[in-house]
Amino acid sequence: MLKLTDVSVHYGAFQALHEINMDVGVGELVVLLGANGAGKSTIFRTISGLSKPSGGSIQFLNENIGGLSPDRLVEAGIVQCAEGRKLFPQMSVYENLLLGGYVRRKNKDSLKKALEEIYQLFPILKEKRNDPAGSLSGGQQQMLAIGRALMSKPKLVLFDEPSIGLAPLIVEQVFEVIQEIHRNGTTVLLAEQNANAALKIADRGYVIENGRIVLVGTSGELFANDEIRKAYIGA
Ligand code: ATP
Repeated sequence: MLKLTDVSVHYGAFQALHEINMDVGVGELVVLLGANGAGKSTIFRTISGLSKPSGGSIQFLNENIGGLSPDRLVEAGIVQCAEGRKLFPQMSVYENLLLGGYVRRKNKDSLKKALEEIYQLFPILKEKRNDPAGSLSGGQQQMLAIGRALMSKPKLVLFDEPSIGLAPLIVEQVFEVIQEIHRNGTTVLLAEQNANAALKIADRGYVIENGRIVLVGTSGELFANDEIRKAYIGA
């Protein structure tokens, strides 16, 4: 579904990504593990059109997508789930969700259906639909950010460290939701430092260090890998 071939990215003279090769198959849940500054966000920014690769190619459903604008990518079916902090705090929960459905604005029925599905997945968002997004708890804001991303009915969702800054109980809920989205047929690419939680729900994983992919394997293989356990699981 998604294929990165020899993708490099520079920030000025600094090379943040070195010839990254990755692929995500239809229906897979793939995790990208890496420490702070390893390059996870840069990979996501590049897939979602915010950073331009200085080399290599990116294909989505066999089409070249390198260089497409972020809104064209949403139309193509790729959406990045922003952190809960990137919502519009003064706007209501409902209005924030509608913004996520912008690419479907011409089809009122499908927009309504998408909204109903999200309220079903997150009953709390229905309950609080008229409240300002900024009045929700941190965990609820993260749920709203996920709901907003799903409003465009994406084929592939990118989650960039969705567990960051959340209490353990909320982290558990966020991972359950990601698992459910995946079970419902959406392909997921998840960047995480929380290897323990991420490998439990992922099919496969990539490990990135200093802008390079250093390890690839099934979740079971990565979980059993001593280096991974030392670096990310603490055992
Ligand atoms: P984090 O979890 O901290 O976001 P990350 O794995 O997502 O880490 P990136 O944000 O992709 O890492 O950063 C990769 C490298 O690129 C880091 O060394 C970072 O300092 C550098 N970098 C990121 N954005 C820029 C920028 N706009 N200009 C210059 N260097 C940058």
